[in-house]
Amino acid sequence: MPVDLHLHSARSDGTDDPATIVRLAAHAGLSTIALTDHDTLAGIDEARAAAATLGVRLISGTELSVNWPTGTMHMLVYYLEPGTGPLQDRLAGLVEARTVRNHRILDRLSEHGIVIDHDDVVAEAGGGVIGRPHIASLLVQRGHVDDMAAAFDRWLGTGRPAYVMRERLDAVEAIELALASGGLPVIAHPHTLGIGADEFRRAFEQLAAIGLAGIESHYAEYDQELRDHLAGICRALGLVPTGGSDYHGRYKAGLSVGVGRGDLRVPDEVVEQLDARRTPGRR
Ligand code: AMP
Ligand code: FE
Ligand code: FE
Ligand code: ZN
Repeated sequence: MPVDLHLHSARSDGTDDPATIVRLAAHAGLSTIALTDHDTLAGIDEARAAAATLGVRLISGTELSVNWPTGTMHMLVYYLEPGTGPLQDRLAGLVEARTVRNHRILDRLSEHGIVIDHDDVVAEAGGGVIGRPHIASLLVQRGHVDDMAAAFDRWLGTGRPAYVMRERLDAVEAIELALASGGLPVIAHPHTLGIGADEFRRAFEQLAAIGLAGIESHYAEYDQELRDHLAGICRALGLVPTGGSDYHGRYKAGLSVGVGRGDLRVPDEVVEQLDARRTPGRR
C-alpha cells in the first residue's frame, strides 16, 4: 500500500483539519501518512486519534525552513513527538518570529496601497501557524490578484515587494536538534535549494555524514526522471528516498492526498527504511 509523508493541515498552512486529512488518506488506501505542518506539532494528537480509528498509521512530523546559501531549504523531521525536547522547545520561538514577520509583510503591502488587518490574517489561519499562504488567500479573496500563484509572483515570493525574510535555524543545527529530539531529518523538495540536479549529490554528502536521514525523492511535482535521479543519490549515500504530495488543501490547487497530481506513488518500503534508521542497530 502506498504512503504519503508530506501533508499540511489547518494547524499550519493547509485548509483541512488533521482528522479530515487522515480520512482522505484512508479513502486513498494509504497505509501510513506523516503530518508535517510548518513549525508545529499541534495537529498530531488529533491526527493520531483519527488514524487509530481508521486503521492508518500516523508518523508525527513537522517541516522547518532552514538556512541554505543558495536558496530555500525545507527540512522534514519525522518521529518528532509533541511535548518538550531540544527541537520541540525551539518551535514556539519560530512561530513567534513568524508573527513579527507577518506584521512586516502587511506593512510592506500597505506601503503599496494594499491594507490588510492582522486580525483578518489570524482569522484566515483559524488558529493555526500563520504563513504567507494565509496572506495570499486574502489577496485573492479581495481581488488584488487572480490566484495564489499570482499572490506569490506579484507580492510575497522571494525578492518580490512584500517579501520579508524570517528567522531560520541553520541546516546543521536543525539536523542536530532533530536527532537529539528523537527525530529523523529529511530534506524536502530539493529543487528549492536553487542548485542544478547535478549538484545535489555533493550538497547532500556532508549532511548525510552528520545524520541526515533522507531526501524527498518521490515528490508530487517532480517528473519520473527527477524522482529516479534523487532516489539514485539516496542509494549512493545510504539515505532514504522519502516522498509525499505536499498537500495543502485549497491553498495548493490540483494536489490530492496520496497521489499528488495523479501519478504519485510512494512505496511503503520507505517507511520500513525510516523505521530501521530510527532504531540503532536495526540498519
Ligand atoms: P512561509 O512558511 O510563510 O514562508 O510560506 C511558505 C509556504 O508558502 C510554502 O510552504 C507553501 O505552502 C507556500 N508557497 C510558497 N511559494 C508558493 C508559490 N509560488 N505558490 C503557492 N504557494 C507557495
Ligand atoms: Fe506550506
Ligand atoms: Fe516545503
Ligand atoms: Zn510542505
